Amino acid sequence: MRHPTLPGAAALALLLVTAVVRADGVLIEHVTLIDGTHAPQPDMTVAVEGERIATVMPSALARGLRGHPIDGHRKYLIPGFMDVHIHLRGGFDPTPTPAAEPGPPNRQEGVEALASFLYAGVTTVLDVGNRPEHILPLRADERAGRILAPRIFATGNLITYPGSHGDRVALRISDFEKDKALLDKHIAEQQPDVLKLTLEEEGWGSRPMIPLMPVDLLAQIIRYYNLHGIRTTVHVSSELRSLEAIYAGSDTLAHPVIQGPVSDSFVKLMAAKKTPFASTLTIGDNYNRLVEHPEYLDEPLYVASFSAADRVRLKTQTREEWKSSTWTAWMKVMTPIAEENVRKVHAAGGVVACGTDQSSGPATQRELELLAAAGIAPLDVIRIATYQSAVFLGKADQLGSIDSGKLADLVLLSKDPTVNIGNAKSIVFVMKGGRIIDESELPLAGGRQKRRFAL
Ligand SMILES: [Zn+2]
Repeated sequence: MRHPTLPGAAALALLLVTAVVRADGVLIEHVTLIDGTHAPQPDMTVAVEGERIATVMPSALARGLRGHPIDGHRKYLIPGFMDVHIHLRGGFDPTPTPAAEPGPPNRQEGVEALASFLYAGVTTVLDVGNRPEHILPLRADERAGRILAPRIFATGNLITYPGSHGDRVALRISDFEKDKALLDKHIAEQQPDVLKLTLEEEGWGSRPMIPLMPVDLLAQIIRYYNLHGIRTTVHVSSELRSLEAIYAGSDTLAHPVIQGPVSDSFVKLMAAKKTPFASTLTIGDNYNRLVEHPEYLDEPLYVASFSAADRVRLKTQTREEWKSSTWTAWMKVMTPIAEENVRKVHAAGGVVACGTDQSSGPATQRELELLAAAGIAPLDVIRIATYQSAVFLGKADQLGSIDSGKLADLVLLSKDPTVNIGNAKSIVFVMKGGRIIDESELPLAGGRQKRRFAL
């Protein structure tokens, strides 16, 4: 089912609401604050002016603050969630046959997926590999306020060695000097927020081994992007390649170790280096979850976020394919190992960030559940999916916690998420850049939703 992005009258109404909120600001009073960095603080007041948080203080001390009051009694205010490993839907399909050139990107699918993030409380995403003609215009539209979407950061094309992992959406670099012009073009034309490289010979599950980028070339490319002010992330899946990527200078890793249990010395190194990595447990969990528990697709967040036809296709055709695939069987074994690896690095003081390797708000909420299931306390899971994900992006000065001066990306919850991470779904409203999102305006694939909150 297709929806227009924003009908004219609705867009005008939204602008009027925005104007009211921006002129007066809002005051969220007597709320329990879970600010992304500290333990919960009861009975706090948060003032939002324009797109930023103006004041955070105990309600007992709050005097003379101006703004539209919102009663936060028995409610919980958290920073908007972040997903630092997505591949936005609509970029790869439709592909008639694997050998053929892909068709044009499906912008509508991308717009609907973006809406599903906001609906689920996710206010920032990092797309780490996509067709640039899909993700970059959407990033421009988000920044210009033309679409209702989380903040979009994007790598554009990722970079890989010819024939290596991610070749399909990558610039193929085999020699630094020879291929430097390609890198310059990538930086100038795509303005990547983060550079993504891959260091992956595969050889796991049912996959054959493939060529691997030499580590000295990896280090040269990382340094070159850093010299242009661009942070880097590397796809890795083993402990060995993780170490090589870190010592080649990568700022972050796009995955945890998923190929086997981590060694104690690797855990110590991650705690010492504090290299942030995306958790990406959902992609591994995804296959077996669909095979064994397809009913998850009937949960309200999924019904809102996916079309009825998509949910039927997943439950029938896709489920049948995944039932018999060796990949599903391998992921069933390896995902608990990855969970334990993430838990160990977190417990030692390493920096986990929230990423799914998926493309929907419900998937990000699933990642929170899997992090909690791994044995990470819900309060820490919230910190992972807010502040530590902002650290991953290099944006912790602007995003990821509730402090005066930061961008007002906030989620108000009606139930305590530190008791049960599932309560992160009890969303009263989502605010992005000081504006409370009107869910009835979101172009969700599951159709228009009721407004959850009105000023
Ligand atoms: Zn990925």
